[in-house]
Order: sequence, then structure tokens, then C-alpha cells
Amino acid sequence: MTLAALRDFVTDLAALVDEGLGEAETLERGSVLLRALVSRDDWLPDEFAQPSPARYQQYLLHCDSAERFSVVSFVWGPGQSTPIHNHTVWGLVGVLRGAEIAERFTAGPDGALTAGGVDHLLPGEIDAVSPRVGDIHRVSNAFDDRVSISIHVYGANIGAVERATFDLQGRPKRFISGYANDRLPNLWDRSASPVAASEPRIEVSVS
Ligand code: FE
Repeated sequence: MTLAALRDFVTDLAALVDEGLGEAETLERGSVLLRALVSRDDWLPDEFAQPSPARYQQYLLHCDSAERFSVVSFVWGPGQSTPIHNHTVWGLVGVLRGAEIAERFTAGPDGALTAGGVDHLLPGEIDAVSPRVGDIHRVSNAFDDRVSISIHVYGANIGAVERATFDLQGRPKRFISGYANDRLPNLWDRSASPVAASEPRIEVSVS
């Protein structure tokens, strides 16, 4: 088990966000990075892969220091599902383990929701959400006898974003998801693969 895969993902994603591209290109290139991350299943610590019988779990794995993006592991117990909800920011979903069903909804002029496409996502597959590409969905574990896990990336500190759940009439109910964990994986212990000492950034003249 190695956290290097997650660290490399976070580093690459920060570099991508640094480029300040539009949402479409960020989603496209972010998908490539996320697909590489979820195409292997040897890096997620068990602590962040634990289901709860009460409800699906959202474990924060990393938050950008400027809260430009966050990385979260979603763990669905057998048969668990999210309510219908929105995001308000861009997001990518990549299945790591098991399988998930993503149902899209669109709001009509009266606000009522209409069911759209249904995607069946397998390990290594990616889905995208945003106000531009379609922001309202419901995600379910495709299995009723085992756990499924997906890795999500959002264009904000998603656990702190004010969002909404909806009933089928489109009536919104405010929610802020928060996170299930209060400790994060330590991505930055590089003692097993040390970095070369860098040049000092500030020249100090000693007189
Ligand atoms: Fe979602």
C-alpha cells in the first residue's frame, strides 16, 4: 500500500488548477488524472474505506490549501444511496471498488425534476458534474451485498459548500455535507522516497 499515488494525484491536480483553465478543460484533464488514480486499488488506507450501516461516508483525503479543490473517498455500504442533490461547483467521480449507479436529473421551468440518463460506473470509470454539464444527480451503490467506493474531486472544499438536496417536485432542502473524518492521511511523509534538498529560496548574507 502506498500513498504516493494519491500524493502524485494531488500534486498534478494542483498544477492543473494553477493553469487557470476553463471548466471544460479542467474536467477533461482532471478526468485523465483521476482515471489513472482509480485504475489501481492499492493506495486507499482502510481507515478511509470503512462503511457505516447508518449512511454512506465521505472521508476527506486532501484539501488544497487555498480550498480550490478537495479529494474525498465516498464509501457506500450495501444498497446505500445519496439523496438527489446538487454541487454548485465542478466535480469528478471515479469508481475505485465495486460499482455505482449515477442518475441525472434536470429541473423544468416549474422546478420539478425529470429523470435523465443513468450511468452504470465500473472501477476506473469517471463521471463529471457541474452547473454547466448537469449538476443534479443521485448516486447509489450498484450492489446490495457489498461495499462500493469512489474517489471524488471537487472545485472547492466540498464539505463546506452550501448545497441542496431535492425531492422529485424539485423542492430544495439546504445541506452542508461536512466529512466523516477529523484526521487526514499523511501524504507528506516522504522518508521512503526522499526529495533532493532544494536550493535555499532566500539568500542570507552574513556579515
Ligand atoms: Fe454528487
